[in-house]
Amino acid sequence: MSKQKIVEAVKSGRVLISDGAWGTFLQNKGMKAGECPELWAVDRPADVKEIAESYFAAGADMVESDTFGGTSFKLEHFELTERVAEINEAAARLSAEAAADADGDKWVIASVGPTGKMLVMGDVTEEELYDSFKEQVVALEKGGADAICIETMSALDEAGLAVKAAKENTACEVIVTFTFEQTVNGDYRTMMGVSPEQAAEEMIEAGADIIGTNCGNGIERMVDIVKAMRAEAPDIPILVHANAGLPKNIDGVDTFPETPEDMARQVGGLVDAGANIIGGCCGTTPAHIKAMKEAVTA
Ligand SMILES: [Zn+2]
Repeated sequence: MSKQKIVEAVKSGRVLISDGAWGTFLQNKGMKAGECPELWAVDRPADVKEIAESYFAAGADMVESDTFGGTSFKLEHFELTERVAEINEAAARLSAEAAADADGDKWVIASVGPTGKMLVMGDVTEEELYDSFKEQVVALEKGGADAICIETMSALDEAGLAVKAAKENTACEVIVTFTFEQTVNGDYRTMMGVSPEQAAEEMIEAGADIIGTNCGNGIERMVDIVKAMRAEAPDIPILVHANAGLPKNIDGVDTFPETPEDMARQVGGLVDAGANIIGGCCGTTPAHIKAMKEAVTA
């Protein structure tokens, strides 16, 4: 039997659990500053697969892949533009293998992060951005991704091109999430001035299957952001990857203060606000995911 789509599982009334942070996990496994995280999928596959396995073991219904910086524009910094397809395919395959090994229907939502190039600054053309995303998402699907998770977006034009590239060149479900900061007025905007309502409206228009928000905030503020998105978009599934609170700088290191129990306590509020898929971003671990899973199944 073929696997159900994530959107169908949400429509059936389930609240799904996603995974937590990958970057800090790689650092704990010995990745040094200045190393290319995505290259670990080729050079250290067992370590990368273990991250996906840890999140499935914690109860996640889906995991991402080690491909956040997998566009040609990001891999260029490591002189790896010739290896975009190889690296992304390998990384997606590691998550897909972990999904196949886990019990029940599990999904791979392969990560696609920003390119670091801004159309508004004239850094790049629309066609160049589209082609870069196309190259990455085609490789992710080949490696076994069920969905493409375009994340940490701040510009509508870049996010829209990524959604379009994924919709037009793969059969994957397409998720797109934006990172918001609270303004002095108490409302939320991305670095490029986009509101949650605008992000919701324009990404649905671009063809996204699932919208949402990741990073930048702990769960508490994510509740406000989800309410704003939900008011604009009553029907589409909403995904949240929340940080473990707002970082505190302790001895020069960003430390995320919320415990698994702190986050689990707020899951109910997030679901009430309209979130359908909940996971973690910076500072979250398998223990956070396990606690949140218990909160939704309780
Ligand atoms: Zn984050």
